[in-house]
Amino acid sequence: MKREANGATVECVRGDITAQPDVDAVVNAANAELRTGGGVAGAIHCAAGPGLEQEALPLAPISPGEAVITGAHGLPNRNVIHALGPVYGRDHPEAELLANCYRNSLALADDNGLESVAFPAISTGVFGYPVEEAAGVAIHTVVKASEKLQNVRLVRFVLFGERDLEAHERILQVSA
Ligand code: ADP
Repeated sequence: MKREANGATVECVRGDITAQPDVDAVVNAANAELRTGGGVAGAIHCAAGPGLEQEALPLAPISPGEAVITGAHGLPNRNVIHALGPVYGRDHPEAELLANCYRNSLALADDNGLESVAFPAISTGVFGYPVEEAAGVAIHTVVKASEKLQNVRLVRFVLFGERDLEAHERILQVSA
């Protein structure tokens, strides 16, 4: 499903973040060291190839809420934006830190002249953020941030599981 917010389209789809060839940037649910790993980071580094880690390593470490941008290497996009989500129950205040991931990623994309960005559900995997709660933070932050975007016209949430998709769709329905 999709909604319009301040001239930008916000949409939720079920899929794989590494298979979004029609967006300028994909966001990586990164680790602080910007290395490959499990989940989204593993899939992105695997699809991009070793050049991604080589380019990203000098930018590490990053802290929760922070985002950095690199080329996309073997991925079919222009850039990868690496954002570090909060670990639920450890990094406080987690909602603010999670919101910063989305705000900072969108600001980086916008400043680099990108028109479309795809996000995974940051922090909802090994970092343990309950998906319903994370979806609320993510969607409200993106809708609010869209007021200030000059270049970004499409924000896509790419959800791996059906339950995750439904949680995001429920929030998007009532928020844009
Ligand atoms: P974090 O460490 O920030 O929690 P994870 O990568 O462990 O990040 O998971 C974040 C979310 O992304 C989880 O909901 C997970 O199911 C989902 N996910 C895992 N692999 C992919 C993928 N290839 N594309 C999109 N979402 C994915």
